[in-house]
Amino acid sequence: MENIAYVGLGSNMGNSKQTLQAVLEDLNQEPDLDVEQVSHFYVTDPVGMVDQDQFVNAVIKLKTSLTAEALLDVLHRYEQKYHRVRTIHWGPRTLDLDIELFNNDVINNAVLDVPHREMFNRLFVLVPLQEIMDKTHPKYQQVSDAINTLNGSQYIMRLDEIGK
Ligand code: AMP
Repeated sequence: MENIAYVGLGSNMGNSKQTLQAVLEDLNQEPDLDVEQVSHFYVTDPVGMVDQDQFVNAVIKLKTSLTAEALLDVLHRYEQKYHRVRTIHWGPRTLDLDIELFNNDVINNAVLDVPHREMFNRLFVLVPLQEIMDKTHPKYQQVSDAINTLNGSQYIMRLDEIGK
């Protein structure tokens, strides 16, 4: 399990909290990866196509023997399992799974951009990521700086702190 990946989870259709909990249980059963850390769950306003329900978001830290591309295949399998509706770009989805960071690799190919293209613009990624990220990770400072820059511009609250 030589690779460390940070994966973002999001849902804004159906019972989002339950969907994220269910996929975490699924990922825990996967043979080629270990879920090492799970952030708190956050309620966030949609970014991009804003006329849709709030999201529940979290970030997890994985150790894996898979390549980034093979990990993406696993994540796509779970998006399909939870019937992700892919019709509208940036639209509602039962489950969205993104690779935010994979080691400190830079990957740009037909299926993957890592670090994720939008991660430094999204508090719903940055805040849960910082919570569980290794302080020694080369991107840690950049994540903290981006949070300071964006703070207050996007709604994000811990799910447990708003009593849900
Ligand atoms: P979207 O519908 O916006 O979530 O885009 C999904 C597609 O983005 C996937 O089929 C991937 O091929 C591509 N993609 C590019 N970079 C990433 C990444 N870092 N994590 C997940 N998907 C990615």
